[in-house]
Amino acid sequence: MVAYQAIYRKWRPAVFEDVVGQEHITKTLQNQLETGKISHAYLFCGTRGTGKTTVAKILARAINCQNPKNGSPCNECSTCRGILDGSIMDVFEIDAASNNGVDNVREIIEDARYVATEAKCRVYIIDEVHMLSQGAFNALLKTLEEPPENTIFILATTEAHKVPQTILSRCQRFDFKRIKTGDIIRRMREIAMGEGLSVTDDAYSLLAQLADGSMRDGLTILERCVSESGTSLTYESVSAALGIAGNAPLFAMAEAVNSGNGAEIFAIIENLMSDGRDLNNFIDNLTEHYRNLLICKITEKPEALLDREGEEIIKLKAQAERTSFEKLSNAVMALSAAKNDAKWAKEPRIIYELCLIKLTRPEFDNSYNALLDRIKTLEEKIEKGIKVEVAKEEKKEDKKPEIKPKQPSARLFVPVDINELTQETPCVAAARAWEKIARQISRKYAFISAAVLGRKVTIDKEGIILIFEKDEVMSKELANKHRAEIESVIAQTIGTSIVAKTAFFEDIEENIIDFWKIGSQKSESETTIQNLDERFPEIVENIDSSEFISYEPEKDDFEQVEIDDDENEEFLEEDEIPDEE
Ligand SMILES: [Zn+2]
Repeated sequence: MVAYQAIYRKWRPAVFEDVVGQEHITKTLQNQLETGKISHAYLFCGTRGTGKTTVAKILARAINCQNPKNGSPCNECSTCRGILDGSIMDVFEIDAASNNGVDNVREIIEDARYVATEAKCRVYIIDEVHMLSQGAFNALLKTLEEPPENTIFILATTEAHKVPQTILSRCQRFDFKRIKTGDIIRRMREIAMGEGLSVTDDAYSLLAQLADGSMRDGLTILERCVSESGTSLTYESVSAALGIAGNAPLFAMAEAVNSGNGAEIFAIIENLMSDGRDLNNFIDNLTEHYRNLLICKITEKPEALLDREGEEIIKLKAQAERTSFEKLSNAVMALSAAKNDAKWAKEPRIIYELCLIKLTRPEFDNSYNALLDRIKTLEEKIEKGIKVEVAKEEKKEDKKPEIKPKQPSARLFVPVDINELTQETPCVAAARAWEKIARQISRKYAFISAAVLGRKVTIDKEGIILIFEKDEVMSKELANKHRAEIESVIAQTIGTSIVAKTAFFEDIEENIIDFWKIGSQKSESETTIQNLDERFPEIVENIDSSEFISYEPEKDDFEQVEIDDDENEEFLEEDEIPDEE
């Protein structure tokens, strides 16, 4: 491999104009340089990767440059080149983290007495200055009180509060801002173009989010992705390279809470845990996600308040649209409370799961916000002119048959004469025994329950297909991740190994979705099964979002607890709703 230079070093800005997101500082410095009003001590404060050292180095050259342009160094004159290649010794970089003894600073002070040799001005850049010892600070202070001619000190720190007031008062202070997502993306685009990389828009957004305000972190992450996945980066390849899930689980979780899909909530958390992600961190991010949704809910132009870009803002707005202000504020409050409770809990996971499940069922919660949410729901129903009683009757009629387990004979009906393909092949056998297999999987691997119990299946030539709804992304991922476990139970049950796949309901034509229906409609099914074979390399499964499955590993059977809205309505009707005041 050719001599390798880290992207962030290679693309480190060489002039003020290339510094990203700190215009308030670079403009001021350029003005000072042009008018000759340079301070002799600067303090650069700000979090890591915001450009403090970069700006210090540009400033050191700009002060000494023979042909400065708009206050920026030319980087071409002998002085600029000398400083860049280290042959001119008048710019000193000191890392206080490793040179924090008083003697080191005394050396610096001794040095500072001598006039610059080749450059106009000696520049001392002291990084992480807060790490200096008290004695070193005192020595530095003396120098700053009576600064030697033509000497400039640039102190940089991530923790300005640890720098003594006496030092602070002698420096011109500049606070470096966390770099905005949009600025990080813009700079990354320039660099990607220069490096011949192809990066999709959503990959840029993900990279910028992960950079978390630090250009250096962003470029280091970009580089890691390139070394893992090559020069073409997509959202998927970035998440895969970094082993992270991006913001997809946040959107998925808010969606699951909003639609009351308890199984999906458990599936998302299981996925995060098996990916080794920190749950506390996820809850923090989820709280922020809800805050962002609230901002979208209450303002016409959330762009001004959100540090988010293009497509993500559109997604946030759309998600906020589907829920209510009460639900969102309730979620922020509940998550903050859960975070607090979890500090003292042995199993924070349970606290978080309970909190999220409660959010799907406001009737479990007697807090003021939850009551408001219930009133709001009731008001909406009244507004829409839905008579609660009527709705209840109708629901009972069309829901019951769906939720009640079908008679085994009907459910396990497998066509014997549709075509040869379907005649007692292992796939047919597996589909036939699916209910049993799913129970077996749940018993053995409780954490996959959400992905298999009550799920519809169909088959293709190679195996069984579990069918998922579009809002069950995480359940689907859970099934995919644990294919081996699912396949092993299938093999044990039917005595033959077949593959288990997943598919979204929407991706399969409706007339072939239900394997059991196919069986009862001979003529049609002949063609549909063939179609399925041709089209489907993938398996699917479906859990009704209105079903909540509670699993008891001890028992022989599992219990399906039906949670439907009837209950809520009854509850609301019977419950005394307090007056608004
Ligand atoms: Zn120059």
